[in-house]
Amino acid sequence: MRRVITVWLMLIFTATVWQPPATATESEEANTVTQREQLFRHMEALSGIPWYFLAAVDQYERNVRNARNDLPDADAEDLIAIRIPTEKWSGPLNPDPTDTNPVSIRLFNGMGQDGNGDGRADADDAEDALVAVVRYLQGYGSDWTSLRIGVWHLYQHPVAVDVISHIAKIYATLNTMDLDEHHFPVSLHHNYTYRSTWGAKRGWGGRRIHEGTDIFAGHGVPVYSTSYGFVEVKGWNKFGGWRVGIRDVHNNYHYYAHLGRFHEDLHTGMIVKPGDLLGYVGNSGYGPPGTAGKFPPHLHYGMYKFNGHTQWSFDPYPYLRKWERETRKRAQEQHS
Ligand SMILES: [Zn+2]
Repeated sequence: MRRVITVWLMLIFTATVWQPPATATESEEANTVTQREQLFRHMEALSGIPWYFLAAVDQYERNVRNARNDLPDADAEDLIAIRIPTEKWSGPLNPDPTDTNPVSIRLFNGMGQDGNGDGRADADDAEDALVAVVRYLQGYGSDWTSLRIGVWHLYQHPVAVDVISHIAKIYATLNTMDLDEHHFPVSLHHNYTYRSTWGAKRGWGGRRIHEGTDIFAGHGVPVYSTSYGFVEVKGWNKFGGWRVGIRDVHNNYHYYAHLGRFHEDLHTGMIVKPGDLLGYVGNSGYGPPGTAGKFPPHLHYGMYKFNGHTQWSFDPYPYLRKWERETRKRAQEQHS
């Protein structure tokens, strides 16, 4: 089986890998995403591991590497971002943590594989790393529960397992990795106003800073998903009131708070697209379930990233400005 994978992988990589210029344009990045998707679909045909799960593990690694200082960034043009930590690669009891010999790595129960057929299991080689993950997951099984157990043992962090599962569900449901479009979260056909308030001090509920942008609009103004994503959270929070939390594939957790009510079809575990209706602007929050009216109606929109250990907030304001322009431009193009 490994022989077959290796030969096929060499063919696929030779056919798909090309070197784009240092500054990749958006169309070149889209091209890379298409190639990446083809590669994972080939791997599914060879290994039985679903393409969307391999894609999710790879995208998770890309996200985490770009969110941390202790790991090298993954370039947007890199086909595979997966890198296995040395002790897992060479085997926990291997006296040589930099071992590249497939025989001794196997002896010490390491994950390392020679995916490109050069006789070496090189942790820094994309093909070797991909085949290592495929072989590792094959050891658990290709059904959803087994795959989740596999990534739990690999990353040993509950959020990591959920994030990977949710990215996989997004890819599987939409049947593509091309998920870059965004939408402004509030209807452009209503009056609204917002400015950059990220990091401002907040009074209610102890010392906190404002982790988001407030978009002021009237009661009942439609609130839309800004991205493709998986609905992780829907319900009441004493700060946010009626709120929704959505995970996208690019390491963003989108938080929509103080809603007046939810869209009736919205439920946790569902996959949404940019522009899908989530609910309506309100002023819920700052108390027990149902509390409302303690401040003017607005959408509180927050964005968070995850680095494999913790989650933190960053300023959504520049993204909102960009998505507002893009949403308006698409609407004009549709009407012209
Ligand atoms: Zn706010």
